[in-house]
Amino acid sequence: MIRIAVANQKGGVGKTTTAINLATALAATGWRTLIIDLDPQGNASTGLGISQSQRELSSYDLLRGDAGVAECRVATAIPRLDIVPATVDLSGAEIELIEFQDRLHRLQQVLAAAEAGQWDICLIDCPPSLGMLTLNALIAAESLLVPLQCEFFALEGLSQLLTTVERVRGRFNPQLFILGVALTMFDRRNRLTDQVSDDVREVLGPVVFDTVIPRNVRLSEAPSHGLPALIYDHRCAGSAAYIALARELLGRLPNVRKAA
Ligand code: ADP
Ligand code: MG
Repeated sequence: MIRIAVANQKGGVGKTTTAINLATALAATGWRTLIIDLDPQGNASTGLGISQSQRELSSYDLLRGDAGVAECRVATAIPRLDIVPATVDLSGAEIELIEFQDRLHRLQQVLAAAEAGQWDICLIDCPPSLGMLTLNALIAAESLLVPLQCEFFALEGLSQLLTTVERVRGRFNPQLFILGVALTMFDRRNRLTDQVSDDVREVLGPVVFDTVIPRNVRLSEAPSHGLPALIYDHRCAGSAAYIALARELLGRLPNVRKAA
């Protein structure tokens, strides 16, 4: 199972929107896809229409070791797309697990133990911090996808994320690589976002995906309907961009194994 962490310690940069819509695009092209909602706010779960009553088992139970992935996963309305939902309980995990020596490896362990062959790819939607939850994701993942909002301070804070990635590589997960940086909320009419996108490409180089996600109201409306934008309005510019991003992402995966 390919494992990708969607991370950036800044909030509101498009992590969850990216995780939901990429996952939907991958599922639509035949990949058996799993999202792990690792944000106590549970936006990915809500955005995929998972009610509170469907969250009896969640990523919190997964990290505590009380249940496995197969028990915690909930099927979404989208064929081939499952999610391990999140609840607010997760916000206590950081403190509750502090006494456990293996607390940073909990997600890695449960993913390794997940029934082989059940999913082809897993996207981990991280919370807006570099704490224990995101570290669990970076240690469990093979690669990292960084959504970066096209705004003036886009690059600020990125060095902190990159330093964390270096530390994780050095101490826990030497294989971890940055699959790509996705520019989000791009506004063609705004000269500033144009400038930011140019600057980011100049600084970061080819790790930045060619595909840019536009600012698109359909992307922000879709979650309130409990649907990915790709289902809510598959023809909107935002959906088209995420389909293109999924294609570009697959092209970057080493040894891509197309789902049956
Ligand atoms: P994060 O998970 O990084 O906190 P979200 O994906 O939840 O970020 O996005 C933050 C807010 O911006 C949400 O309300 C979301 O609907 C909205 N949003 C995200 N991407 C776009 C976009 N490309 N265009 C318009 N709104 C967006
Ligand atoms: Mg989020």
